[in-house]
Amino acid sequence: MSLALEDPVSALSGVGEKRQAALRDLGIFTIEDLLTYYPFRYEDLGARRPSETLDGEKVTFKGVVSTPAVVRRFGKRSQTVLGLLIDRENIRVTFFNQPWVAKNIEVGQEVAVYGTYNAAKAALSAIKLVPATTDALDPIYPASKGVKAKTIADLVEQAWGQLRGQMPNLVPQHLRDKYRLLDKNQQIEWAHFPKDSAEAKAGRRSAAFEEFFIFQMRLQLIKQADQAFGGQPLHYDKEAVFTLIDRLPYELTAAQKRVVGEILADQHDGRHMNRLLQGDVGSGKTVVAAIAMYATVTAGCQAALMAPTEILAQQHAKSLAKLFDQAGIDLRVELLTSGLKAGQRRQILADLTNGEIDIVVGTHALVQDDVYFHHLGLAVIDEQHRFGVKQRSKLREGGMNPDILAMTATPIPRTLSITAYGEMEVSVIDELPAGRKQIMTSQLSQRQFDQALALMKAELAKGAQAYVVTPLIEESETLDVQNVTEVYQRLQVALPDYTVGLLHGRLKKDDKDTLMQGFKDNQVQVLVATTVVEVGVDVPNASIMLILDADRFGLAQLHQLRGRVGRGDRQSYTVLVADPKTDYGKERLKALVDTTDGFELAQRDLELRGAGDILGTKQSGMPEFQVGDPVKDLTMLTIAQQEALSLVRESEWDNQVDNQPLVNYLSKTMAQFRHFD
Ligand code: ADP
Ligand code: MG
Repeated sequence: MSLALEDPVSALSGVGEKRQAALRDLGIFTIEDLLTYYPFRYEDLGARRPSETLDGEKVTFKGVVSTPAVVRRFGKRSQTVLGLLIDRENIRVTFFNQPWVAKNIEVGQEVAVYGTYNAAKAALSAIKLVPATTDALDPIYPASKGVKAKTIADLVEQAWGQLRGQMPNLVPQHLRDKYRLLDKNQQIEWAHFPKDSAEAKAGRRSAAFEEFFIFQMRLQLIKQADQAFGGQPLHYDKEAVFTLIDRLPYELTAAQKRVVGEILADQHDGRHMNRLLQGDVGSGKTVVAAIAMYATVTAGCQAALMAPTEILAQQHAKSLAKLFDQAGIDLRVELLTSGLKAGQRRQILADLTNGEIDIVVGTHALVQDDVYFHHLGLAVIDEQHRFGVKQRSKLREGGMNPDILAMTATPIPRTLSITAYGEMEVSVIDELPAGRKQIMTSQLSQRQFDQALALMKAELAKGAQAYVVTPLIEESETLDVQNVTEVYQRLQVALPDYTVGLLHGRLKKDDKDTLMQGFKDNQVQVLVATTVVEVGVDVPNASIMLILDADRFGLAQLHQLRGRVGRGDRQSYTVLVADPKTDYGKERLKALVDTTDGFELAQRDLELRGAGDILGTKQSGMPEFQVGDPVKDLTMLTIAQQEALSLVRESEWDNQVDNQPLVNYLSKTMAQFRHFD
């Protein structure tokens, strides 16, 4: 029987259950997946001269054995030394602990050796002997514990042997012509079995475009489906909305006014809204969301706000209630979290269903199966990267297709947001409320902890409050608690005149709440915490943030933490206590000291590392790209986006013959894509 692209990899010889499972973990299910599982680099087996090779470079030399292999033994260890003549240059090759190689080597024989070159000594520390007959590039695949790179290479070869020439083109002809992209079969051939680096490069270029293009096509189709699903125009009460804005205790910033306008226009429009609101910490996203929620309510619908943690949900519920109350607007705002007593929960669910609750605030509890709204018009998702696609689509099920407003304080360079949030429109609040004082950031070493303490004491003496944050120690909650507890005890001793509180993940919910309330009410002056204070907590009287072992946090996280202070009138401080060991670690902390602009930081962060980390790919439900690099190949990604957009805008695009392979592929893989988290 002949092999087909959609066959499972188990159709290949040598793939049993175990190997199939290992391949599945790499995302390889079908033969097609395997053939589009590209090498991440190539080992160069081409002819190289020692004089063209850098010191310390890994290289393969092909030459003629010029002196016999001599084995010297030292107990269990051994060295095998031979001379190798490479086009009139002679080098010394040493194999460590591989005495058997001597048996296979004779003077005058042509061999190829892969190893690390030492230029000063004209010597190669050999890693392995490679077959001298190969003169191409050896593909190296990303592998795992369960399946070796070499195994993957063999399987690709086996599959390709049967399917060579049979791959349909997913990228339409007109785009291949326009961007000089390879035919799919050549792309596969060159990416897996290149004769030289030019072929490898061309193969990968086409593969990367294909990958970006497919990704963008999916986003466009999701977007189309989303809009087709039917939003309804929201007839909100304009007067009432303006009244709320008028009665706020402050004037909205120009940026806030702009995004409120964008959101209201979307809501009023018949199209379904799917919008991302990006704004730095403290830029005032919450009030913008409140205005959108109020507009929804004036149109006779309900609004929901989902927060990533219970603490935040509570805080949101309280501040919303307060905001409407101060504006003299009568609304029913309720909190729905998993911590509710059964009776309370039942009552709230009933009132949601009969429409008596206008605005509900909660955590994941809001998207549970037994939650039915009377008429949900808007769902606001705070810190959206913590909500997967699944939760979002959950809201849409059951005929409910509320407008979606996602808020994030994780600044993403505008250009990058097209990958992360390609299916959403983006609104940006790029301005802080007037009168905010710059947060002063400094870095101290562990030895200078006393200086940090002195600064904290000075702030406390002025009546301000302080945060002290310790890092989460990965994979050990016990260590976390130990670490944070130690710091807590130390500060209790150092600050006898103040109340110090301890907040960590192990604490019971009630205790957490009591403590947070105590901190808000200034009964607790110093809050020692693991990263749970990371997002959104609003205590304007806090003026100093001490971050211990700051080098163990990500840049975005540090920036978030810093945003906990500087929320009121006080001049505020962030002190990073750390002794970073690597240049990268030093650079990151320096970036933070240098700037308080979240977008600039995000850009620096992006340059310091790859894009994947920043986007938090796993959480955002964004697939990681196999070949393409959204940072390095940004231009290509942008072009892929434009081309996908213009393709789906063509009428009947999906009936054109040239697009059939693409249409088939998309429909085959779309279901999978929608539910990948
Ligand atoms: P974000 O959620 O974007 O981090 P918040 O919405 O929590 O920011 O707002 C931070 C603080 O700034 C809140 O105390 C809020 O009341 C206040 N605030 C919001 N908008 C303005 C404004 N235009 N002028 C003054 N203060 C504002
Ligand atoms: Mg917020």
